[in-house]
Amino acid sequence: MEFIDSHCHLAMDAFSEDRHEVIERFFKEGGISLLSVSTNIDEFYLNKELCEKYSGIYTSLGWHPHDAKVFGKKEEDFLKEVASKKLINAVGEIGLDFYYDNSPREEQIRAFEIQLRIAKKFNLPVIIHTRDADGETASVLRKHRGIRGVIHCFTSGEDFFDTAVKLDFYISFSGIITFPKAEDLRKLVKKAPIDRVFFETDSPYLSPVPFRGKRNEPLRVKHTIEKAAELKEMDAKTLSSIANNNFYNLFGKNPF
Ligand SMILES: [Zn+2]
Repeated sequence: MEFIDSHCHLAMDAFSEDRHEVIERFFKEGGISLLSVSTNIDEFYLNKELCEKYSGIYTSLGWHPHDAKVFGKKEEDFLKEVASKKLINAVGEIGLDFYYDNSPREEQIRAFEIQLRIAKKFNLPVIIHTRDADGETASVLRKHRGIRGVIHCFTSGEDFFDTAVKLDFYISFSGIITFPKAEDLRKLVKKAPIDRVFFETDSPYLSPVPFRGKRNEPLRVKHTIEKAAELKEMDAKTLSSIANNNFYNLFGKNPF
């Protein structure tokens, strides 16, 4: 089975000891592409090195809602520069997180909208993070209609799911779909249109069953795909190849 991890954070310190071993394990076992998200300038440079070394690695750049308070002029200019040079395949992750509220809500909305405008200007898709802010995220996305993107690590309810699909967004499911309590989410996996889904680990976070509590890594996306295939009563290989096409449809070709 050939598979893709559509969202992980290989530039984080959790991988500083064995980053290359983790990557090589992924490609050796059937991984064909992964997108390693950059959440700041330093992470972007580290991910860029990975993109140059491995042809299957993509990166994006965006200030997470947690960091909206540090998203200033310098960050905005840097994002515009890498977007204009086509060094990234997406803007993100960006969005709203009213669960942790690590940045004031007005600051989160401000940083979110600036980054959406940059994505639109440079015709890049967006990677959306939303937690406990579905109504607000939906209204911002409606206001900026016409931008393509994905709702990453989907954990919201059915209303937001329907809105996202209506706005032509993709839905990315993580290892959470394997967690015992995720019954509602599994219903949405079953419901999800096949041409709108792909899968992610969000490594180093969110290890799927049977690895819960351990550091996650891109290879484990396999378990999430297998679980989704079981829910959709499909062959995992077929589901994975459709998800791979969806990923390439959204993010396009690797610029490196
Ligand atoms: Zn993430």
